[in-house]
Amino acid sequence: MPRSCAFCGGRPLSNEHILGQWLRTAFPPEDLVNGIHYRANAATTHQHAQGLLKATVKAVCEPCNNGWMSELESGVKPFLPEMINGGRVFLDSEQQQLLAAWSLKTMLMMAKAHNPPEPIIPATDYTDFYRERRPSAVMVARTGFAAVPENAQIALASDFSCHALAVQDGYGYLATLRLGMFVVQIVRAGPFPGQVLKPFVPTWQLMPLWPVAEPRHWPPTFPIPDQDWASLTTPDEVPLELAPADA
Ligand SMILES: [Zn+2]
Repeated sequence: MPRSCAFCGGRPLSNEHILGQWLRTAFPPEDLVNGIHYRANAATTHQHAQGLLKATVKAVCEPCNNGWMSELESGVKPFLPEMINGGRVFLDSEQQQLLAAWSLKTMLMMAKAHNPPEPIIPATDYTDFYRERRPSAVMVARTGFAAVPENAQIALASDFSCHALAVQDGYGYLATLRLGMFVVQIVRAGPFPGQVLKPFVPTWQLMPLWPVAEPRHWPPTFPIPDQDWASLTTPDEVPLELAPADA
């Protein structure tokens, strides 16, 4: 049986660029030819030596690709390129929601492209996102900016990783995306009966993105140093705090 759209179940599938071609102007030309880098978990490393904006995946249908997914791209166009370059932007609540939704959409597509033998992201996360068009109640997100490594010959233009989390009585994963200096991280964990994940606490390096908070300036005060990248993307433990669902 032919595969169907991960979001709506429709057919046939179309080839989608994982990163919109409009992002071309957001990266230095030399970054566009660098490989895009995927990691499934701490044990395996996969590298796709492919132009940054050339990677495609066949996982969604044409109406999704050219419809609501394209609208998400348009929504972040006014401010995402500035963030990729580490510039200062002001994010109101609507823009925070757009950015959180765009980030989840992009990470879901990157996970499809990587196609690990055992998918880390459950199929229902795709259909839930299609229905809600925003991260779900079992997700929290935060954002920061990556420091340019001092001795690197080439700055890492893009990095995506997704790791399963040990979650009691539920299921979870930690997904991290970096584009240029823009960093976003989504934790999905649950469901926890009668409880929800508490939003991330702001730090000097990371600010909460989902659920949306009050309007604020990005980036946070300090960049995430290169030597902290591994512990951010593959932490020994993710501090998850729960709150009553109706609080
Ligand atoms: Zn579809």
